[in-house]
Amino acid sequence: MTDKKRVLSGMQTTGKLHLGNLLGALNNWVSMQDEFECYYFAADWHTLATSYEDTNDLADNLADLGVNWLSAGLDPGKSVLFVQSLVPEHAVLHLLLSMLTPISWLERVPSYKEKLQQVVNKDLSMYGFLGYPVLQAADIVIYKAHFVPVGIDQLPHLELTREIVRRFHDTYKRKVFIEPEGKMSEVPKLPGVDGRKMSKSYGNAIYLSDSSKEMKTKILNIVTDPARVRKTDPGDPEKCVAYSFHKVFSPDDENELTIKECKSAGRGCVDCKKFLSVNIFKYLEPILEKRAYWEQRPKEVYDILKAGSEKARKVAKQTLAEAEDAIGFSYSKKLLG
Ligand code: SF4
Repeated sequence: MTDKKRVLSGMQTTGKLHLGNLLGALNNWVSMQDEFECYYFAADWHTLATSYEDTNDLADNLADLGVNWLSAGLDPGKSVLFVQSLVPEHAVLHLLLSMLTPISWLERVPSYKEKLQQVVNKDLSMYGFLGYPVLQAADIVIYKAHFVPVGIDQLPHLELTREIVRRFHDTYKRKVFIEPEGKMSEVPKLPGVDGRKMSKSYGNAIYLSDSSKEMKTKILNIVTDPARVRKTDPGDPEKCVAYSFHKVFSPDDENELTIKECKSAGRGCVDCKKFLSVNIFKYLEPILEKRAYWEQRPKEVYDILKAGSEKARKVAKQTLAEAEDAIGFSYSKKLLG
């Protein structure tokens, strides 16, 4: 038992992790490990909601996720690291919660409509896709998590979870769950190499699994101030994607010099990105070293995820039993079990 508040968060197993994932979510997870009791899971069922036709890479992606988690500093001695599909209680609670969740609540979730419109290469008009916020609610409340790290765009999902919890408590006149709160945190914004959001689907991401040669090439191809055609043209760092990377990875005094030399045309963009490359590699060096270590030890990575899943399952089983009891749905086990 611990007095620490509990945090829950998951990451889909949709593919390789990129620097945006590292800075946007993973570093934040790592930073919460001492203050909170953290449960972090590989959301492989959520992956199915959007990639139900393409399941070939699930195993590879899970292995890569585990390696990245451990390399970035997630510590199985501090946090419970587990796999959603190894805790089937999530799915049972999802079913029970779906019985009292109005369809209109799901249809008004902004990301549902957005994705239906934006994703044109696959048919997402599926029951599982509409209902995935209910699965998300089950993921959170089954651990009685107090906090969920969220970005602004995920707040409607969390509000839906809170509404479902209130409805459950009102309906069955028993408090089983905790209404989770969002934990907003300042995370550095890192664009893709072309200036759009860093995303696998845009082909503009730098992956932790890229070789150093691939990374260097991608860094040298980061878009710069488009108005700076020749080296003798003065540039504007605020209009330069490479400078957005500098802001994250380079020290302040170097950035001051970059601004000065860019504005006075005293530095060429290739040199500027070479400096950037050095700083990115300095930042990533300890992570990449750990990646090299964990990549050679898949069995240990799987053992960690397996042990975490067993630990998570004990908590999930207990909460599910409480929920079934509140509903009056433990009757069959009492009668026949
Ligand atoms: S010198 Fe550096 S900051 Fe200026 S436009 Fe080129 S890459 Fe960007």
